[in-house]
Amino acid sequence: MAIASINPATGEIIREFPAHTADEVEERIASAHAAFGRLQETDFATRARWMRAAADLLEEEVEQVASMITEEMGKPLVQARAEARKSATAMHFYADRAEEFLSGRSLEDPSAVNASAATTRYQPLGVVLAVMPWNYPIWQVVRFAAPALMAGNTGLLKHASNVPQAALYLDSLFERGGFPPGSFRSLLIPASAVEGVLRDRRVAAATLTGSEPAGRSVAAIAGSEVKHVVLELGGSDPFVVMPSADLDSAVATAVTSRTTNNGQACINAKRFIVHDEVYDAFVERFSAAMEALTVGDPLDAATDIGPLATASGRDELAALVDDALAKGATARVGGSTAPGSGWFYRPTVLTDVDAGMRLYAEEAFGPVATVFRVADAEEALRIANDTTFGLSSAVWTQDPAEEELLVNGLQAGAVFVNGMSISYPELPFGGIKDSGVGRELSAEGIREFCNLKSVWKA
Ligand code: NAP
Repeated sequence: MAIASINPATGEIIREFPAHTADEVEERIASAHAAFGRLQETDFATRARWMRAAADLLEEEVEQVASMITEEMGKPLVQARAEARKSATAMHFYADRAEEFLSGRSLEDPSAVNASAATTRYQPLGVVLAVMPWNYPIWQVVRFAAPALMAGNTGLLKHASNVPQAALYLDSLFERGGFPPGSFRSLLIPASAVEGVLRDRRVAAATLTGSEPAGRSVAAIAGSEVKHVVLELGGSDPFVVMPSADLDSAVATAVTSRTTNNGQACINAKRFIVHDEVYDAFVERFSAAMEALTVGDPLDAATDIGPLATASGRDELAALVDDALAKGATARVGGSTAPGSGWFYRPTVLTDVDAGMRLYAEEAFGPVATVFRVADAEEALRIANDTTFGLSSAVWTQDPAEEELLVNGLQAGAVFVNGMSISYPELPFGGIKDSGVGRELSAEGIREFCNLKSVWKA
């Protein structure tokens, strides 16, 4: 796949970028490695000053950044602005909290280990390779880079091949804030070149956000090199609605949770599991609300859903829905591509989906919702967990016993009660099962790329 910005609303190539040569890649690895040495000599206050300055730049440049995001991957402009602002907020969060999160601890009774003192401290690992997706081209990178740099690591970014402008913006952002040259560099390379970088002895660890096959590949290489890896992979999040739920609120939130980011977020709710007592009302209102959404130009303020980011992504989504329809699923609304020269897909609600259809097991990365009818909370839990994914989940109920059963039983990295899954800097983020390993954000996120060193003193 060429490294190119292509406007998904029109299919027009905006600009192509040549891949970095072997010499250019070598120069960037060497500079990230050298910058690690320099960052280790800095304290938290210095790094926090640089991080805040970079965050301020991002905030000042929010309009330029938002236009770039929308032009490259098609999300509505208002959501692109929100992404840039949220990224700046996370940078401030880690500037404020990194020192506290990495403060280490003293053992309560060192004599138990024959010491006069025993403590722990967190130290950075070195150069971390970040392989990132196009769907939140600034946020996904910043949620890795802000804690990694505040811990004293340096970063090399291999961004998705369809967002090179975002990659180049991030290439200079942290250096413009004050970080030493080389602290965070982008590599314009194809996926096939990741292995060589990851096997380089100067690269200490890796993080990948993206699809399961990409995650498995990077994890296998990291494993063979005995390098730490964090994986944030796909999801097919359940959204459970029980009879005691506030149905108006549940329906409105279901629409937002399924269609945010043109339906291309790992934590979009994708499977709606609804109790028999409220199923008909839910399906009717949810379908009407999905049908009322405006699909179109993402630069237009009236647009709710823009195009899918790539032609292949749109075709894969269409193939999933076609397979389900051919095997007996019912399209309450949508079920086909939308007209236009770009890669649009109509908001879709499907019922009568069963385990014989690909859609039952695979992630629908676009505005396609599947609704299941269940008799009780136990059946809701069984269907919610009948997936290889385990990223996030949502539960709508006012019944404390039902809430406890579902919160405890859902196989996922997070549960949101009477709300929708959102990533916040304050909350650890990540999945179980095939959705990944490790955590980003919060204190756990910054500790992922640190050596927890135990110090024993006679
Ligand atoms: P993708 O194809 O896996 O691409 C993600 C990144 O991995 C890109 O930079 C890509 O480079 C690279 N890549 C692809 N194959 C690779 C390989 N074999 N070895 C090394 N790198 C490789 O993912 P996508 O389809 O663009 O993104 C959508 C997926 O990401 C969905 O499954 C979504 O749920 C998941 N996602 C997860 C999270 C989370 O936090 N859990 C967040 C966002 C998205 P190229 O572009 O050059 O191919």
